[in-house]
Amino acid sequence: MSEMNYQEVTKLLEEPKNVVITSHRNPDGDAIGSSVSLVLILKKLKHKVTIVFPSEYPVDFEFLTPVKRAIIFDQTPEKALQAIEKAELFFALDYNALDRVDKMAETIRQNPCPKILIDHHLNPGDFAQFVLSDTSASSTCELMWIFFQQLGYDDLIDKKVAESLYTGINTDTGSFKYSTSPRLFQVCSKLLEKGADDVKIQGLIYDKMEEKKLRILGHCLANRMEIIPEFSTAIIHLTKRDYEKFDIQRGDTEGVVNYLLRIKGIKLAAFIARQPNITKLSLRSKGNFSVQKMAERYFNGGGHKNAAGGFSYKGLTLTLERFKSILPNYEHQLKP
Ligand code: 5GP
Ligand code: MN
Repeated sequence: MSEMNYQEVTKLLEEPKNVVITSHRNPDGDAIGSSVSLVLILKKLKHKVTIVFPSEYPVDFEFLTPVKRAIIFDQTPEKALQAIEKAELFFALDYNALDRVDKMAETIRQNPCPKILIDHHLNPGDFAQFVLSDTSASSTCELMWIFFQQLGYDDLIDKKVAESLYTGINTDTGSFKYSTSPRLFQVCSKLLEKGADDVKIQGLIYDKMEEKKLRILGHCLANRMEIIPEFSTAIIHLTKRDYEKFDIQRGDTEGVVNYLLRIKGIKLAAFIARQPNITKLSLRSKGNFSVQKMAERYFNGGGHKNAAGGFSYKGLTLTLERFKSILPNYEHQLKP
């Protein structure tokens, strides 16, 4: 792995190329915002650009219109792999390791083209020659701003690019609740100068919830929430039956786990849901407790110190039991 060599990257981007941009499974606002900002910039430079995501993105983000042309591996695997095979330049945005792109990993590894990784997760993988990794950054979108500046692309950043970046920053900081820094607010100030309409974007992201989604949240909070006060922990679980009864789709439970941290005294929050082949865990914490370490050690996962995830091949009941059984290992960190 080498650091970002902006001179070499500038050279790579001088001639129009077949560029493929990828991000992680279940792309979120930051994955989508960073990918879309890069598409918009590279199109201005006459590159042929394709976004490839491992799985579907939430429709909430379709206001960043270039995302609608993304190829989704889960829907059209052959098309996705063909695009990756044909790439002459490859971007990995908002993920650190190839296990985050599942079945696309092998094809990516086999394509010898130059690869550029831009990310803010811990432990950046060694599959890319050019790496911009900064775990102190709020988001990959914040790093995209730096990347574009370093390449001298400031003039190419228009209102649409600025609004894509603002979307990722806003969502990855929980609306500026965490991971903030003086630099982040400086970047945001520049984005507003570029014409980003922050109030409009927040409306587009947050104030168009479907009734169904609010009812699912209500169900989670009223019927599926469990508090374990001796370990300052709160859990919400959803069964297969819940998924059927409430017609829960991907994205419908996004953000539910965060509500648990609003409870006084809670340091660790878990959302545990049965999915077709695995039981998925979304973990959040406050303060020094690292859910990233917990996810890595016990649930095949990772992420950030205060927001991580993982999965288990066991069913819901066994996974819940396992989760509760490991809490005593963290007694001195979690006790009230
Ligand atoms: P979420 O709980 O919102 O799905 O994910 C929170 C954070 O944890 C994200 O930054 C994501 O990158 C990370 N994460 C979620 N699931 C996994 C997983 O299965 N493996 C790894 N390595 N990271 C995950
Ligand atoms: Mn991110």
